[in-house]
Amino acid sequence: MHALIIVDVQYDFLSGGALAVPHGDEVITVINRIQEDYDLVVATQDWHPVGHKSFASVHPGMRPFDVIELAGQEQVLWPDHCVQGTAGARLSDQLDPCRIEAIFRKGTELDIDSYSGFFDNGKRKNTGLAGYLRDREVSVVSVCGLAADYCVYFTAMDALQLGFDTHIIEDAVRAIDGTAYAVKRAAFLQQGGKLFGE
Ligand SMILES: [Zn+2]
Repeated sequence: MHALIIVDVQYDFLSGGALAVPHGDEVITVINRIQEDYDLVVATQDWHPVGHKSFASVHPGMRPFDVIELAGQEQVLWPDHCVQGTAGARLSDQLDPCRIEAIFRKGTELDIDSYSGFFDNGKRKNTGLAGYLRDREVSVVSVCGLAADYCVYFTAMDALQLGFDTHIIEDAVRAIDGTAYAVKRAAFLQQGGKLFGE
């Protein structure tokens, strides 16, 4: 079984959103087209409580994209984004939802961030995604969505570590910082990850 994991195609990461990824909207058409190529399609959704510690606004004197230490991890501070129940946290209406069998929410713990769809950044809490994929006898996963240098990358790296044959679909990801993504992509490839064309 080959699963497609659609990462965080949410309004706050799209044009006009609180943390818009450059050209992020371009992934949606590709993702809609390729969904039919997979045995199983799941999605992740960044889903933060109000006042989440990854928000610069809760740290006096800090601004978005400053870096602090949080829960023992290096933490980039973000604009408030994907707050539970807000319009910005919704999956895009442009994303075809029909084949998405399950949505895994992450970032729900107030004091730790979660880039990966599998675990928070400290690997304290498991979202259940790995167990779900194993129960469905998935052995290969392809990862797409936003943003390539954060949630896509960390989801893909965890998938590799969990033993899935893992691909990143480059036509269906966009990065916040393309230079940072290039470094991370090299690390992913070195760990045995693969890139997938359209
Ligand atoms: Zn977030």
